[in-house]
This record gives sequence, C-alpha cells and structure tokens, in this order.
Amino acid sequence: MANTNIVVVGSSNTDFIVKLKRIPKPGETLLGGEFFTAAGGKGANQAVAAARAGGQVSLVARVGSDVFGDRAIAGFVEDGIDVTHVTRDPRAASGAALIFVARDGENCIAVASGANGRLCPADAKKAGPVIAQAKVLLMQLETPLNTLVTAARLAASAGALVILNPAPARTVPNQLLRHVAILTPNESEAELLTGVKLKSIATAEKAAAKLRDRGIQTVVLTLGARGALISNEQGTQTIAGFKVKALDATAAGDVFNGALAVALTEGRPLSQAVRMANAAAAISVTRVGAQPSIPTREMIERFLKSQ
Ligand code: ADP
Repeated sequence: MANTNIVVVGSSNTDFIVKLKRIPKPGETLLGGEFFTAAGGKGANQAVAAARAGGQVSLVARVGSDVFGDRAIAGFVEDGIDVTHVTRDPRAASGAALIFVARDGENCIAVASGANGRLCPADAKKAGPVIAQAKVLLMQLETPLNTLVTAARLAASAGALVILNPAPARTVPNQLLRHVAILTPNESEAELLTGVKLKSIATAEKAAAKLRDRGIQTVVLTLGARGALISNEQGTQTIAGFKVKALDATAAGDVFNGALAVALTEGRPLSQAVRMANAAAAISVTRVGAQPSIPTREMIERFLKSQ
C-alpha cells in the first residue's frame, strides 16, 4: 500500500470461451468447439493494464471463494497488483462470462456477475486509506453504483483524480458524476449518455460539450482506430490513433484507461497521456484476448519510438 498511486475499483471475471463454426441455436448441441479461459472483467483488465504500464496499483474488487477467484488473485499478484482489498465473497461465485465466438467473428455472451454484484460501500470504505493516498482512482460501471459513489467521494475529498470509464454503457447518476474529473466514454457510451448520434468529429465535440455541461471538467472520448478526443476548458483536441493491423479489439478501452491513469500519475500533460494510452491500446488490438493482450511499459515505449 505504501507506494500505491492508482486504485482501481471494479469487476473481475473469468471468461469461458468456446470457438465454434457458428453460434448454437437455443436447444441445440453443437460439437467441434475449441475451449479456453481468460481473465477479464473491466476492473481487473484496467488494473492489469495500469500495472503493466508501470503504475503501482491496488485493486478493490470481490471474487468468490472458488478456484476462479484463486486464479484471478494469482494473476493479479503476478502482475504486481496489491490485492489487500480483493475480498473473497463467502456466498457468491466469482464473476463469469460464457462466450461463444463463431468463425465469422460473431459472438454471444452471457455474464453472471456473481461476487462483483456484492462489491459494497463498506469494501470501498475499508480501502479508504489507500484511496486517500492515491493520485488516481479509476472506475468503470460493472459493479454497484453506490460503491463507486463512496469510493469517488473518498478520493475526491482527499484530492485524488477520479477517472470514470462509463462502461458498459448505462446512465450515470449526478451523485457519481459530481466527483469525476475525467470521463472516458467510447462512442456508444457517449451516445447513450448524451443522446447525440456520433457520426463525425463535430458530433463527438457536441457530445463532449454536453457531458461537460453536466459538470465534468475533462472528457476523453475514445474514437476506436481514430484515437481520442479531449474536451476541457482549454478547448477540444483530437489525438490521432496509431495505424496497426487490428486482430482483436477486446479490452482496447480498458488498456487505454489503465495507461492513461499511469501517464497522469507521472505528471504528463493530458495530450501526451492520451498519446501513450492510444499507443498501449493500439498494441492490444494487434494481440488476441483481454488480459493476455495487455502490453508492458517496455512494449509501449518501443512502439512509441518506432512511430
Ligand atoms: P472500446 O474498446 O471501449 O470500445 P474504442 O473502440 O474507442 O473503445 O477504443 C479505445 C482505444 O483503443 C482508442 O481510443 C484507440 O486508442 C485504441 N484503438 C481501438 N481500435 C483501434 C484500432 N483498430 N487501431 C488502433 N487503435 C485502436
């Protein structure tokens, strides 16, 4: 805890993936699949992304008292993440996502949130001292909102920078937004939050302005391969994405957020921090899977030098 500069509050899941020639129909049994598991969950992905990018990360999360929870925690420890505040839930199973992926790339996903749904305000309060001494609190929307509000309040009152990645897309109460310094929606999340259809940079600017009208100082709207748009009181700026051969965009947004948090703890100006986040996310889309695709700091530096 002594060195923690980033606290991530969020979800941890195990993805159970079956690749098949096509998605089975209801009632059908389809043979011939290939099975693998991967660590996932937006909170865990962002914590791993921040740790690999060089952050000192503490994760506040809940997993079950099952083998999947064991494995998730072992993975966090391997990445150097402080797991003091990863609680083992005695009653709920670890979060799980059952994923079918068809040969043409179509997928079908069932999520059982399990222990993630029981991450409670008391968990955030227990982590209060570590939240209070962090530079950045990074959160998403896969865990209960009242817990996020508690964590955000603790962080903001201690002067930490609160970054909210409003994913998966759902409405965000003002009670939470009030404490958020940087909001990082992707295009569909920005659409849901503002009602503005995003078709161009101009419409992205309009959506960002609408979010800022709700009291958010800085909006960093991610634009897929095009990079990200920054909107704050200094104006609007687009930071171009990097050209890569995209293989699998899973967790691109998570990698972006983790790297952004690290760059900001290092005191980099926002435009530079977004450039580093674009680089980390671009590398991740060239690699398959969620956590396996997350680059290290060394890979990010090498990639940036090669551009
Ligand atoms: P999400 O993954 O949450 O849907 P985006 O699609 O906006 O969010 O992607 C997040 C970030 O990942 C982008 O801002 C960009 O930096 C990077 N990214 C995503 N897709 C690509 C791509 N095809 N090529 C390069 N970078 C990409």
